[in-house]
Amino acid sequence: MELSGGAPKISFFEMVASDSLSSYFEGGFKYIYQVFTNHYDRLVPISYYSDEAYFIFDMLLQSYYLHKNSSSYAENFFSFTRSAVSFTNNRLKQYSTKHKVITLFFEVILPYLRLKVHKWYLSKKGDANFQYKKYLKIIPLTNGLYAFIDFLYKLKYLLQQDFKFFKPYLHLCNFLIRRKNMFELRTEEEKYSNKVVGVLSKYNVFIMFIFIKYCQWYFSQGNSGSQSSSQSQGEEICEPPPRAKPSKGCPLCQKSPIENPCALETSGYVFCFVCIQDYVEKNQRCPITGTRTFDSNIRKIYK
Ligand SMILES: [Zn+2]
Repeated sequence: MELSGGAPKISFFEMVASDSLSSYFEGGFKYIYQVFTNHYDRLVPISYYSDEAYFIFDMLLQSYYLHKNSSSYAENFFSFTRSAVSFTNNRLKQYSTKHKVITLFFEVILPYLRLKVHKWYLSKKGDANFQYKKYLKIIPLTNGLYAFIDFLYKLKYLLQQDFKFFKPYLHLCNFLIRRKNMFELRTEEEKYSNKVVGVLSKYNVFIMFIFIKYCQWYFSQGNSGSQSSSQSQGEEICEPPPRAKPSKGCPLCQKSPIENPCALETSGYVFCFVCIQDYVEKNQRCPITGTRTFDSNIRKIYK
């Protein structure tokens, strides 16, 4: 099978759809995880680890699909598969275990590490006592560079008909994402015929979507009793904030007792006045939940 003689390139928009499917999935998973773990007191301690829980889930899911179909979960949903392209003669090779491990690194491990570094960066940026603040700039710079290169690849994919790499690492490793051919589709059909698993694996995104919508509806019903009806109508339902860890002091400077304690109306968390005013002025959000917050949302607390 030759690269040039294969099926036409997957359209840019299909690639974007397949790429964004995982982010919807991630949002849905974390939402359900937060709702579920916050609902049971015994599970509250693990509610802070939604990133880790999703990482493990994603690792298992993608490993399974890579093993079964040589594609990620989202790619399989769109009937795409992956092949490695030989560097020497441009022919398609089977996606070997080594290729699958590299894919897991770039699709699962690296995004997780980037997310953790970003969260660490946000927490240190507002920390007045952090000594190495001047080195912190490296993180947004690296992220910016990464996003820029990624953008260039997507632009090239959109504009240049014979350019087949949607992401930089695919180019680096010479991995090709392509449509499954008739033979592969037929084999798959036979494998899944008369099986509930086949139907489930094809439609579980929709099942997940309906489940998320159900959860949103269910928990908004539960909350509406405590809110005034005008407030609950037409308000967007956000991801529930994680519960506060048993706090020893100000979450920003860690000092205890908190100096001039102030709470944010938007999240309910308490900080020193100086810490939170400085933080909100720069970031316009709650440092813990990320909810959009302004100076006017800071409230003094009297004990
Ligand atoms: Zn403080």
